[in-house]
Amino acid sequence: MKAEIHPDYQNVTITCSCGNVMHTRSTRCEDFLVDVCSKCHPFYTGTQKVADSGGQIDKFKQRFGVISSRKKS
Ligand SMILES: [Zn+2]
Repeated sequence: MKAEIHPDYQNVTITCSCGNVMHTRSTRCEDFLVDVCSKCHPFYTGTQKVADSGGQIDKFKQRFGVISSRKKS
């Protein structure tokens, strides 16, 4: 290898938000975090992750639940 033209390339640890830890090598030369990896991305797991548990109506009912229940009774 030619001297002083190659970037620094070191062992790094990548930690995913799902808890998965990967050891690899990178020119970034520091450990870093990722939001999604092959262990938790729906494309690889085949399962659909529900990001939003409730729709707009459910959120409205949670916020103004007293009013809507009063109308029912
Ligand atoms: Zn992950």
